Amino acid sequence: MSGVAVVYDDSFLLHDYPGHPENAARLRAITGKLATDPALRDLPASPAPDADPEMLRAVHTERHILGVAHAAQSGGGWLDGDTYCTARSYDVALRAAGAAMRAAEMVMQHEVSGAFALVRPPGHHATPDHAMGFCLFNNAAVAARSAQRLYGAERVAVVDIDVHHGNGTQDVFYEDPSVLYCSLHQFPLYPGTGLQHETGAGRGEGTTVNVPLPPGTDGERWMYAFDTRVAPALAEHRPDVIVVSAGYDGHAADPLAELRLTTETYAQVAARIAAIAGELSGGRTVWVLEGGYDLDALAASVGATLQALEAA
Ligand SMILES: [Zn+2]
Repeated sequence: MSGVAVVYDDSFLLHDYPGHPENAARLRAITGKLATDPALRDLPASPAPDADPEMLRAVHTERHILGVAHAAQSGGGWLDGDTYCTARSYDVALRAAGAAMRAAEMVMQHEVSGAFALVRPPGHHATPDHAMGFCLFNNAAVAARSAQRLYGAERVAVVDIDVHHGNGTQDVFYEDPSVLYCSLHQFPLYPGTGLQHETGAGRGEGTTVNVPLPPGTDGERWMYAFDTRVAPALAEHRPDVIVVSAGYDGHAADPLAELRLTTETYAQVAARIAAIAGELSGGRTVWVLEGGYDLDALAASVGATLQALEAA
């Protein structure tokens, strides 16, 4: 099985707050790139369904899900200091989680080897019980759980390449030995978690791998950290599918952080993850969009990821 597809829904543009860095222009930049780049415009695209409520509840508490629903029903507001919710945001977030589930379905059901859910709002800071850091529901965690509970994956790995630590995803799987969570992120930086000694707890001890990297880290040193810390953990875990929390705010052009990755770095890491999945995971990779706030760098880097996956 080969090939890559994207999962997308126009409703992802309806969660918007002009002037906020996490706004609808981000996805418009990506879809504009996909529509005009000859190497990308013929990629198969799947519509996105709403998330299965059962799978959402496999990641989040009922209290959190109803809290987002009620916030939207009452016209929206701020769920934390930097996380907005509009009247449309519950519906959009439900569909974003559904898109991540659909990407997992496409890969687990052998429709394609790689599927990229181009979603907003992002998800990796959303904890079981709280919206946080621009994130309402944890799309990547929902993809991982649905791969297990609906499509028979036993072991899953979530590789988080966003420049911020995915504290929400870490929380979801911290005591779960079946899901390896690996994150490379700038430290110090929001949200302040993801230290090297955070390695999981209980039966999940050892299945959380955090690689904090100092401001200024370039692509070469980032890839070295990936190869020496993340790749061996993947080889040990032998996941049935690799879910990637695909954030692009580690790009040198990004206004929210200070790493110095390039568009080429994102092509390299996509090729590397696809190669590892080819050896360990039947080639299966599920990509879920997280951050990335320089529009040109974001669009180019998502494009580079998709081209690398197509070539894999
Ligand atoms: Zn981020």
